[in-house]
Amino acid sequence: MIDNACEWGSATFLIFSENVGALVYYTHIMPIVISLFLGFQVLINNSKRLSNQVLFLLTVVFSAWVYFDLILWASPTPEMVVAFWAAIVPIEMFMYLLALYLVYLFAHNQVDAPTWKKLAFSSFLLPIFLLAHTSLNVIGLSPDCDTGAFEGILIQYMYLSELIIISFVIYYLFKGVKQLHDSILRKRHIFISLATVLFLLFFSAGNLTLSFDLGPYYEQYKLFGMPIFAAIVAYSMIKLGTFNAESLLTEILVSALWILTFSLLLFSDITYARPIIVVTLVIFGLLGTQVVRSVQQEVSQREHIEKLAKDLEGANTRLTQLDKLKSEFVSIASHQLRSPITAIRGYTSLLLDGDYGKLPQKAMEPLQRIDESSKRMALSIEDYLNVSRIESGNMVYNYSDFSLRNEVEKLCDDMRPEAIKKGLGLIFRTSDLKGQGMVHADIGKAVQIVQNIINNAIKYTPNGSISVYVRDDVVCKITYVDVVDTGVGIAPEELGAIFEKFERARNANAVNAHGTGLGLFVAIKMAKEMKGDITVHSDGEGKGSRFTFSLPLAA
Ligand code: ADP
Repeated sequence: MIDNACEWGSATFLIFSENVGALVYYTHIMPIVISLFLGFQVLINNSKRLSNQVLFLLTVVFSAWVYFDLILWASPTPEMVVAFWAAIVPIEMFMYLLALYLVYLFAHNQVDAPTWKKLAFSSFLLPIFLLAHTSLNVIGLSPDCDTGAFEGILIQYMYLSELIIISFVIYYLFKGVKQLHDSILRKRHIFISLATVLFLLFFSAGNLTLSFDLGPYYEQYKLFGMPIFAAIVAYSMIKLGTFNAESLLTEILVSALWILTFSLLLFSDITYARPIIVVTLVIFGLLGTQVVRSVQQEVSQREHIEKLAKDLEGANTRLTQLDKLKSEFVSIASHQLRSPITAIRGYTSLLLDGDYGKLPQKAMEPLQRIDESSKRMALSIEDYLNVSRIESGNMVYNYSDFSLRNEVEKLCDDMRPEAIKKGLGLIFRTSDLKGQGMVHADIGKAVQIVQNIINNAIKYTPNGSISVYVRDDVVCKITYVDVVDTGVGIAPEELGAIFEKFERARNANAVNAHGTGLGLFVAIKMAKEMKGDITVHSDGEGKGSRFTFSLPLAA
């Protein structure tokens, strides 16, 4: 039943009427401008993405709702009040559905919802769409002639549906947080969901003020959810690239502030302040354009850097794979070479020892060359194999307690003839070893390390001598083996590099062209694995070197 007894004012463009106070225009027009601005910007930026389309539609539907609400405030006839009430209710429901859809898309990393879910939600709201124009929606108009209406049972159903939809939004908020593993995607989702929850809560809270009869002016607050929503969305755009539109935030902010300042001009009681506002607008327009430009520049630079970093990461992964392949190749090749070289060495030594009869002197010299070269080759192969074992983590260590001092002494005795052959002295010394030089380590590897260091000392010392000194530090519980030579020495700037793979110091080639640059790399890796270390000291080129190998004393 429609009450026709009231005097209704007329309304221009359905919304401009004396029925409506200035506050109502402010609370309605401002959110429309902001929301449409946001929606269009997001759509223009990427019109193909579903979530951008949904956000756009949400802002349009919201604006339609607000416009219809203004019409209800200004309605010139009771028939129009009833007609627009019938229209605004389904619009409101559609808006809630779109908001839920938006959050769903972010929670599922932009993967669309299955049709059955869409149908389920729509059918649950079907009564509202179907019955909006019946008296279940509006029972009658307010006798106060303020264009208000008495709500029917359908409205209660709508409020309940709204609360259910908000619960689903919160559910998808948590679901997304749980299932999104990429931190950027998760943050984007949190921002959009929180913005949506606030938007819907403001809206529903405004609706409740009506139901509790708090007067129509409180209801105005419900529209403030949209500027808050827009602000959060804009913030997440610039911070997280949500909707792929970072630089839009500044555009939106600058434009929104400009619009807000401009709207001050519309107030009639501030005539005297108008010139100041106009000047402010001009300055703001100029500065704002600059800010937008510089942000755009910064964003494009950042995107460029991010792309470079991604490319670099890809290149790095490829390099790691190649390095692995290379190690495998070296390992296979070295294994294949090891057997023939062992055979060559074995037979050469038999020939040299006269096991196949006495050879003519003329054949002895080339045979000795074959023996030396094959020995060097066997050592190089051993280096390659050690490197590939270390890099693949397949080096096996057999720990036992033994006296490093005794092993080093034996080693010196074994290597002395080689040093003497080169005209060098090899001296072994030891202090009063309180710890007896007892260590807990892999004996084979410890001896291999010292052998490598003494071998280098012989290789890189053209004349003079080599002293090997074993000492204990019982306080620090460490035993040291110093190998001091009077050889070519090492330039200070090269000291750090010689432990790296394939690194050889400048003067190495001058004295000994043969060398892989792997011996010390393998030695220091093995020493460190056994909780020890190798350090080097040299006063410079031509001034000799001191290598110190250390291992912890056995407990
Ligand atoms: P290689 O001896 O096969 O080149 P190493 O890893 O054993 O490889 O040694 C790396 C480099 O360290 C050598 O090439 C050499 O330049 C330098 N170096 C090692 N020991 C000595 C030493 N006793 N005197 C001078 N230089 C040395």
